[in-house]
Amino acid sequence: MNRARLLMMNAALGPLDYRVPDGMDVVPGSVVLAPLGPRQVIGIVWEEGRLPAERVADSRLRPLLEVLPVPPLRAELRRLIEWTADYYCASLASVARMVLSSGGALKGPATMTEYRLSGGMPERMTPQRERAMAALEGEQATIRELAGLSDVSEGVLRGLVNQGVLEPVVVDCDRPYLLARADYAEPVLNGAQQDVADRFVAAVEERRFAPFLLDGVTGSGKTETYFEAIAAAIRAGQQTLVLLPEIALTEAFLRRFEDRFGAAPVLWHSSLKSTERRRGWRAIASGSAQVVVGARSALFLPYANLGLIVVDEAHETSFKQDEGVRYNARDVAVMRARFERIPVVLASATPALESLQMAAAGTYEKLDLESRYGGAMLPAITTINLTEEPPERGRWLAPPLVEAMQARMERGEQTLLFLNRRGFAPLTLCRNCGHRFQCPNCSAWLVEHRLSHRLACHHCGHETSTPDACPECGEHDCLVACGPGVERIADEVAAILPEARVAVATSDTLNTPEKAAAFVAAAEEGAIDVIVGTQLVTKGFHFPELTLVGVVDADLGLEGGDLRAAERTYQQVAQVAGRAGRGAKPGEVLIQTRHPDAPVIAALAAGDRDAFYDAETEARRHAGAPPFGRWAAIIVSSEDEAEAREAANRIGATRPNLPDVAILGPAPAPLSLLRGRYRYRLLINARRTAQVQDVIRDWLGALTFPSGVRVGVDIDPYSFV
Ligand SMILES: [Zn+2]
Ligand SMILES: [Zn+2]
Repeated sequence: MNRARLLMMNAALGPLDYRVPDGMDVVPGSVVLAPLGPRQVIGIVWEEGRLPAERVADSRLRPLLEVLPVPPLRAELRRLIEWTADYYCASLASVARMVLSSGGALKGPATMTEYRLSGGMPERMTPQRERAMAALEGEQATIRELAGLSDVSEGVLRGLVNQGVLEPVVVDCDRPYLLARADYAEPVLNGAQQDVADRFVAAVEERRFAPFLLDGVTGSGKTETYFEAIAAAIRAGQQTLVLLPEIALTEAFLRRFEDRFGAAPVLWHSSLKSTERRRGWRAIASGSAQVVVGARSALFLPYANLGLIVVDEAHETSFKQDEGVRYNARDVAVMRARFERIPVVLASATPALESLQMAAAGTYEKLDLESRYGGAMLPAITTINLTEEPPERGRWLAPPLVEAMQARMERGEQTLLFLNRRGFAPLTLCRNCGHRFQCPNCSAWLVEHRLSHRLACHHCGHETSTPDACPECGEHDCLVACGPGVERIADEVAAILPEARVAVATSDTLNTPEKAAAFVAAAEEGAIDVIVGTQLVTKGFHFPELTLVGVVDADLGLEGGDLRAAERTYQQVAQVAGRAGRGAKPGEVLIQTRHPDAPVIAALAAGDRDAFYDAETEARRHAGAPPFGRWAAIIVSSEDEAEAREAANRIGATRPNLPDVAILGPAPAPLSLLRGRYRYRLLINARRTAQVQDVIRDWLGALTFPSGVRVGVDIDPYSFV
């Protein structure tokens, strides 16, 4: 190979050809450094036939500079990159950047210096030094990380280094991870679990593409069954990827994993330190990382020898990425398994309708786990009709729910109140002039967070301290909170049950693994009587004394009217209901609603899952919605309102006229201003068989837009805002 075609990391460059210098070993998939003008850029060597470009004469080619010290990307991964870019109408470069997601990893072997306490004492003790030394007992990390751990400046720590109180330790950046052992603590499975585990193990051993839908109620022991598939992969020397929807769930997962395999898996998520990213990436690429547990981005890593993929809580909408490459990790996981010719397990207590349909069509093999593991009973579910039994004025918990909570307090049992709304109140207004607090960057209200005395936008992160006076009319003490968030419910619980120990569990209060672990420990010890939480607490936790779940507002998710509103409500309420009665004591679930007859609420109360799915299937079929038809969205945005509108109108005016494709819009997006950008949307609804991506590519490819305009395509959208 004396010339090479590169996929560049910048889509605007297009593919570029280079000369391969004598003696340089380059194969498709090699990650290389190439000259570009005065700069050096990274590219991936690609098959010429799969990456068309104008051919440049040999004599005009510049030579590649070097092959970076990482294994070439395997053909299976290159095909996944191509498929993802093609299916989601994204550039190859933007998908490839998700693969090469650690700059440090591309640099080859390296060491770094960490520091730890030497046991010595400083000549002069200061309060800061004392604080640092107390905080750093048993720690070893870089100066910057130690400064973060001890909450003192790096300067203070460097002073301690100079005095020999902190000693340097040279560590290998790529030191190996502890090995997980397949036989560390083999479980005793019940008959149904064993049957499921045997299917998984056989598929891993046969090393073939096998998509499974593992359908089992919460508490039925799904995790134990796919752990046996992981054990089989470890025995065969193959890697496993486990995707979890939320990093807050990993704490509970890690403990179970360590108990089963005797070592922690390799973690992958967006808040890893760069050194951890590097180490993880290289271990994954070399094959030494046996089991990787991660967020959706872990799906695109360059596994050397992938043998199994598990997507847990596979119905979760957080597997859908809504920015950049708008992919659904659940669907891409199945494609990756297909390219790698390996099994993939989609596990859920409330599968997505799309997944059930794939099972019904025979594409996925559906495996069921019905009874609760260990004989625990499913909770009894009752609705409270809020129009008949309303809460007291200014309160949100109806009398039957309050009585049930009091009974739990007397028995020393726990209650979980679920409300999927962070903060104290979703809207704050001025009693005097009617002023409403709105985000300056988004068309959204600011949410009051009373615990932190702030008003915050949940869309862009804009925050301001809660003012004493109205910024509009200047009146003092005139701000009124409208509607409840979890903090307000916690206040109400404190008023009703003054002796109750109440914990608010949201992404605001459990924002680090340490805080999440402390919360779990406190709840397990019985140090919490009432948990008030968002969807963060709907899954993964197992508290034996938790016997009552109250759903504060089951109608909340049904507002807004997006395609999956009913399904998401069903999934959330069913998930949170599954938290009740996981120990020996039976659980009870009370659902507060103004619409007890709505099909989704009625199905929940009746415990009739099939009725819900049947009704939802018919509704979707009737609407031509997924999985029976296809949706795609085009989102146009600009900081300039007129520019965004003009671009959207031009797209609308050039719409293709096709018999099996309906195009709606353009219209201002429900969130018409987001992060300072004005937004318009078009929605495409097509027959299952229509080549939607080709239609969109041809359509948008013929247009050009001002540089301030962004045009995004969302295939199979989840968000309609
Ligand atoms: Zn006012
Ligand atoms: Zn905002």
